[in-house]
Amino acid sequence: MQHLCEICGKAIQPGRIKALPGTKRCIDCARKQGSDYVIRRIATGMDIDTYKDLLGATRS
Ligand SMILES: [Zn+2]
Repeated sequence: MQHLCEICGKAIQPGRIKALPGTKRCIDCARKQGSDYVIRRIATGMDIDTYKDLLGATRS
């Protein structure tokens, strides 16, 4: 099943979906809109180094 961004309609990066299964935005829109990414990081208890790795991995 493909996850599409609710804002721009592009496919959401697989690494992002793995980390944030409920996300509805791609990384670019999440950055522009803020919020859900940061909140979910705290909710899942992901440590900050892992989080930064994920950001690096999904940036292409
Ligand atoms: Zn998007």
